[in-house]
Amino acid sequence: MFNCPRISKIFQLVEHYSYKPDGLLCVLTQPCSRGDGDFGNIAPSLPQDHPGGAASGFFSRLKNYSVPIPGRKKIWGGSRNNTTDNLNPYEANIPHYGSSKGPEAMPMDTEVYESPYADPDELRNSVVLREHLILEDGELGSGNFGTVLKGTYKMKKAQKQVAVKILKNSDNDGAMRDEMLREANLMQQLDNPYIVRMIGICESENLMLVMELADLGPLNKFLQKNRYLSVKNITELVHQVSMGMKYLEENNFVHRDLAARNVLLVTQHYAKISDFGLSKALTEEENYYKSKGHGKWPVKWYAPECMNYLKFSSKSDVWSFGVLMWEAFSLGQKPYKGMKGNEVMQMIDSGRRMEPPANCPDEMYDLMKKCWIFKFEERPGFAVVEPRLRDFYYDIAQ
Ligand code: ATP
Repeated sequence: MFNCPRISKIFQLVEHYSYKPDGLLCVLTQPCSRGDGDFGNIAPSLPQDHPGGAASGFFSRLKNYSVPIPGRKKIWGGSRNNTTDNLNPYEANIPHYGSSKGPEAMPMDTEVYESPYADPDELRNSVVLREHLILEDGELGSGNFGTVLKGTYKMKKAQKQVAVKILKNSDNDGAMRDEMLREANLMQQLDNPYIVRMIGICESENLMLVMELADLGPLNKFLQKNRYLSVKNITELVHQVSMGMKYLEENNFVHRDLAARNVLLVTQHYAKISDFGLSKALTEEENYYKSKGHGKWPVKWYAPECMNYLKFSSKSDVWSFGVLMWEAFSLGQKPYKGMKGNEVMQMIDSGRRMEPPANCPDEMYDLMKKCWIFKFEERPGFAVVEPRLRDFYYDIAQ
């Protein structure tokens, strides 16, 4: 089990067995308070007289011990905030959207959790041959570059469903092509379950960027259409985004376009960060990127130091993440609605911030405000933001 490349931390092990039994008699459900010593109780909800309840060996040890999770304050069995249960309380009867693996498919149940680079025989280099790619008709979306189609990539051993970003005909020689190749080059350096991974580049009738497929599309649109999502579900998704962002921070990349529109859903319980068109790798000497000038920027998501000094760092991504959290908890509403970019800047300069979305848990609004601390030196990084979300999620997930 510990040899599994997807589970390297004890909290991932606990998470894994909370989502699916995977050989256990049931999922882990009720955490118990820590007992004496290093281990307390982690309790799958097996009655004592259940045949598995008194089983010997590893599973019974798992049943009897709780696992201390690094960096976690006491959360299991902690008090619950009644206001955080649901934005809409009728969660039990709502439809669920997911992959073919089932409506409740969790990240590790999907094809796109495990790295496509895990098997070097399959993805040895980043070139995709056109004859190995089948494109479907319907558009997944479109953007500045052109269109994004669903497709199938025929590999040596398996077939993979993919999303293919196709450069517009008119731009095959232009600046857009260079930009798309830059985006591909950056994506190629990233490998994390909460980031859309690049499969390869295909040079054919048009330049194509082949990526992992996130079928349910952008988070903001999904939330606008599915307004029943519970606070728990939303917290789960934003926590996943924070894990992807923590990975970027640790590896010295800045995203620069983090927003709910650029988070794509694989299932209702699995989010991936996408759109690396503005992203930059930072040098070892400097932990920020200095832009040469203002561009066509998503001003409402940008921190003051981006607008005032053209300076981008993981801390400015944290500011954007706060806006993304606001979008998510407001079920896909537009931030600073009706305001112009310069009005937003004035509002921020004067110390005012967006109000909390309706029914947003206090803990989550408090975290948004931390992400919107004016001075980037005082703003938390993702190394702080991610565990706060994880704690809150585990707290309400019981
Ligand atoms: P922008 O105008 O933001 O620069 P773009 O040209 O960079 O857009 P993307 O934002 O990357 O294009 O993609 C446009 C749309 O295509 C997305 O909003 C989404 O609906 C769809 N899309 C992109 N990548 C994927 C993917 N990997 N899986 C599923 N759908 C995707």
